[in-house]
Amino acid sequence: MLLTAFAGAYGTQSLFSSESAIDDSHHLNLGLERLLSLLRDAETGQRGFVITGRESYLEPYFDATPKISAQLDAIKLLVQNDNRQRQRLGDLRFTVDEKLAEVGRVIMARRTGGFDAAKAMVQSDKGKLLMDRARLVVADMEKTADDELTVRRGRARHTRDFAIVVAIVSAALTVLMAVSFAYWLRRLTRVRIRVIGQLHDRKQLLRVTLASIGDGVVTTDVSGRVTFMNAVARSLAGWESANATGLPIEDVLVLVNETSRATVANPTRTALAERRSVALANHTMLITRAGVEVHIDDSAAPILDIAGNLVGSVLVFRDVGLRKQYEDELRESDRRKSEFLAVMSHELRNPIAAIRSALEVLNRVDNDPRHLERLLALMDRQVLHMTRLIDDLLDVARVSKGALDLKMERVDIHALIASSVETAQAVLDKRRNALAVKLPPEPISVQGDAARLCQAVANILTNASKYSDMGSPITLAVSVVHGEVLITVCDKGIGFSPEDAERIFDMFAQVDRSSDLSKEGLGIGLSLARQIALLHGGRIVANSAGRGLGSEFTIHLPEDKTGPISVQMPPQTEFTPGREQGLRVLVADDNEDAADALATLLRLSGFDVTVAHDGEQAARFSSDMHPDIVLLDIGMPKLTGYEVAKRIRSETWAVRPILIAITGWGQPEDRRQTHEVGFDVHFTKPIDFVRLHHAIVDSISRVRGHPT
Ligand code: ADP
Repeated sequence: MLLTAFAGAYGTQSLFSSESAIDDSHHLNLGLERLLSLLRDAETGQRGFVITGRESYLEPYFDATPKISAQLDAIKLLVQNDNRQRQRLGDLRFTVDEKLAEVGRVIMARRTGGFDAAKAMVQSDKGKLLMDRARLVVADMEKTADDELTVRRGRARHTRDFAIVVAIVSAALTVLMAVSFAYWLRRLTRVRIRVIGQLHDRKQLLRVTLASIGDGVVTTDVSGRVTFMNAVARSLAGWESANATGLPIEDVLVLVNETSRATVANPTRTALAERRSVALANHTMLITRAGVEVHIDDSAAPILDIAGNLVGSVLVFRDVGLRKQYEDELRESDRRKSEFLAVMSHELRNPIAAIRSALEVLNRVDNDPRHLERLLALMDRQVLHMTRLIDDLLDVARVSKGALDLKMERVDIHALIASSVETAQAVLDKRRNALAVKLPPEPISVQGDAARLCQAVANILTNASKYSDMGSPITLAVSVVHGEVLITVCDKGIGFSPEDAERIFDMFAQVDRSSDLSKEGLGIGLSLARQIALLHGGRIVANSAGRGLGSEFTIHLPEDKTGPISVQMPPQTEFTPGREQGLRVLVADDNEDAADALATLLRLSGFDVTVAHDGEQAARFSSDMHPDIVLLDIGMPKLTGYEVAKRIRSETWAVRPILIAITGWGQPEDRRQTHEVGFDVHFTKPIDFVRLHHAIVDSISRVRGHPT
């Protein structure tokens, strides 16, 4: 653009000077013509005066003479830059001066010498010669001026062409520039719009993030004064944005040490001073505006601009009260579990120790029937105790997995209480507690699992005995209130403080671990009882007036008022040997003692028993002897019980055998698996021989269609 501007200026200037040069040429020609015309005027005046002698004819002469001089000066100006023309002008001036002098002389001669003298001078042709010479010089100058004019015209044409080209180029450049500018402007606008869009998106992202983030966020300027607080920060600290903005961070977030309550340095200050992220020391609390103490966890970081200059800081903090509570609970639960494991091993060691001692005694007393009976009863009791412990544990596991299966049926409360008292009777007898049972005369029933409900009531009855003095009375009363059956057990024992009323229902919870009474339990009985009540749509409420003032436990169950009672409590059947003569039984267990003991019992009952000690043997013996009943351990070497069962089921025997799994695994999943491979019955170790016998008899009559 600058170039075209210069070129344009130059072109215009050249155009002007060409035009003015052309004008000069024109003026020169005109000037020369006018000079000749003035000379002719002067000559005409002279001629008229010579002929007439009258002075008035000299008027053109006098008029022309000064003009000629002025004209010559004007011409001089026009040719001052042209040496040749200047020389000719000198020549012309000389000739003109000569001519005027000649005219002057002729006029003088007429005045003084009369017409003839003047005529003689005219006839000398000097004047004519001078005039011709002046014409010649003028013609010469005009010719040169014309030539110059032609040259100047050509130059002017070039200059005009150049100016036109410059104008076109400049116009094109201007258009190009305008288009480029428009394009650039559009691009710039687009980029701006995109950048504005991105900025808006980022702002939106930041806004939404800050609004929805679960942590409190506070930003400050470089001097540590609050510039922004998100909703969580406002609600945690109890400040409104409008009040907090502009205040020093320490005034808004008051931080103190959890134990000493001494003010703690705000991490924002360190972040600003040291330009690095800072996490808060542990055990710090925030004092809200309302004076409430909140456990927090926080960290601060400096905010730097694009050039790396510090422009403020951001502080992120969260309420960790709940987390701390969970951690405490977790620790407590862990502590209880460890305690439980210690108690559990202690509980298992006790019966084992008793059995071991009894065995020692058996070894020494030979076959003395007095000792034999007592020791066998002792061992039976201890095994039963261990089995109960393990059953309780399995129940706990089932409850905690929500997998406690209930066999719902209509349960008669009178039968339930009788069965529960029977279960707890051993403990009641041992501790010589007098139990008074108060039952309403009319029949009452609930919907439920009789065995589980019995377990719950018996647990509470046993506790009433365990946690009261030897011989202290216990009452069990049943009533119906607003459609609810209430089973209340009262004792006059150690009781518990009101704050323990809920805690005692927690898993593995015992009020006083160190007491001798608690050592007899694992702290799961009440928890189980409550779970059972809950699963029946009921609840258990514990009450005590305080330590040493006795306790009252009430089980609430929804009453079932529909129709007569159809289901009775399970009968306590006695095992009577001698009805199974001739039935062939295969017992397979890699634990030889267990296999032999079971085989002996079965033989005593009249079964024809063969024993195998691994899976392969079991499969072979089965194929060879086609037993009526196969009792299979599951975890055996060579072939598992599952595989043996599958093999047996894949063979075709004349009579279908009864397959009974005897295993340490009793979870529903294990039962499902044994059922799937073809077992008829699933038993968990240790086996209650009476139940095993019943199961065998039941299965035989079911499968074979006739009782044995
Ligand atoms: P365990 O009896 O095996 O310890 P429980 O779950 O049956 O476990 O009982 C939990 C705790 O509740 C007991 O350790 C005891 O401290 C308290 N408790 C239960 N029953 C009574 C009762 N009748 N009187 C006083 N305290 C009781």
